Formats: sequence, C-alpha cells, structure tokens
Amino acid sequence: MPDICLMGGTFDPIHYGHLVVAEEVRQRFHLDKVVFIPAGKPPHKRNQTISDAQHRVNMTRLATSSNPYFEVSTIEVDRQGFSYTVDTVDQLRRSFQVDKIYFITGADAVLEILTWKDVEKLLSMTNFIAATRPGYDLNNLKETLKSLPDPFIKKILPLEVPALSISSSDIRRRVREGRSFKYLLPESVEKYIYKNNIYKNNIYVSS
Ligand code: ATP
Ligand code: MG
Repeated sequence: MPDICLMGGTFDPIHYGHLVVAEEVRQRFHLDKVVFIPAGKPPHKRNQTISDAQHRVNMTRLATSSNPYFEVSTIEVDRQGFSYTVDTVDQLRRSFQVDKIYFITGADAVLEILTWKDVEKLLSMTNFIAATRPGYDLNNLKETLKSLPDPFIKKILPLEVPALSISSSDIRRRVREGRSFKYLLPESVEKYIYKNNIYKNNIYVSS
C-alpha cells in the first residue's frame, strides 16, 4: 500500500519554503505522493482576510505541476463551513486507501495541532512531521514535546530540512509595497500574481 503525505496550508501564496519541505519529506520517508491541500476556511485564521480559494488552488497547481510526486486536493475548499484537519485526513485516508499517512507542518505550526478538533483521533490516523523553519528552535520543540503524553510524542517527528526564511505574509507585504518577490516562489506563480493583481489592494491582518 502506498504511503502518502499531506501538506495543509493557506498557500496564500505557495512559496519555495513549502516546496522544499515537501520534497525533502517525500524523499526522506520514501513517500509515493505528497498532496497539497489549500485550506478552505481555516478556523485559526478567522480574523484574517484570505485570497479567493480559486486563486490559491491555481497557484498551488502551478507551483507543483513540475513534480510528478506532487498533487493538489481541493477537498477543503470544496467543503462548506470551517475546515478541520481531522475530517480531511479521514476522508483522504479512505479515498486513497492508504496504509500510512503523514502530515507536514512547519515547526511554528506543529504545537497548534494540540488545539485542533479531535486531536486524539487525528493522531491515531496520522504521523505529524514538524519541519524546521527559521526563527523556530527545533531543540525547544523537542523539549516541549517531552512534556506531552506518550502517544502524542511518538506521533510528532521533528525533522531538520534545508531552512528557507520565506513566508507568505512577507510576500504579500512585498507585493503591496511594490517590492520584488522574485526567487521566493516559482516564476509561474509570480506571473500569476501580477496578472491577476492579487495582494495589491487587500489589507491583511499580519500573522
Ligand atoms: P503566512 O505567513 O500567511 O502564515 P506561511 O508562509 O506560514 O503563510 P502557510 O500557508 O501558513 O504559509 O503554511 C503552511 C504550512 O507550511 C505550515 O505548517 C507552515 O508552518 C509551513 N511553512 C510555511 N513556510 C515555511 C518555511 N519557510 N519553512 C518551513 N515550513 C514552512
Ligand atoms: Mg503560517
């Protein structure tokens, strides 16, 4: 049975930080597939303006199209109401008929899992991979994990990946201020942003 990995995110926009982490995890864990899942309505970003789902899906497709192991799922943007990871994992596990499922998060986001809906059920279905991200100390994370109940510790694997100090919020800020954001994301996505005039006029609450 195939082993697959899910990477959830707002992807507003997707950038090389996401892509490097996904490719590294794929290779290190010998995975058959990495599925990028642009978030529908993330409950933890409810006070934040997010771009149109269609734009985020299109940009994610453009950014991943050259990697045969990467694919994009619209499962969350197609769903009504808030998106909960536990429901997404459950649905995808059934539809892909997979044995093992991994879920990638950045080291900054991994501890949020503990506040997510049905965390115990979620951890029983999937292993989380917490990838390093500049500004977040992996050793601190390892220390914090030690204080969690045993079953949780085993399900969250900290992982060192080539660090890229790139964030979607910084890219949005650059676009808004008319600064260059070249080389932070694939050229096809850069062109898409210019062509569709995304991030130019929106006021974002910083995250
Ligand atoms: P924003 O600045 O809007 O929060 P972001 O760059 O954090 O955007 P998200 O879509 O929020 O991107 O992130 C999706 C997932 O990718 C999260 O688990 C996040 O921790 C991880 N991630 C994002 N950027 C990086 C990066 N540069 N290195 C490692 N992980 C990252
Ligand atoms: Mg983020």
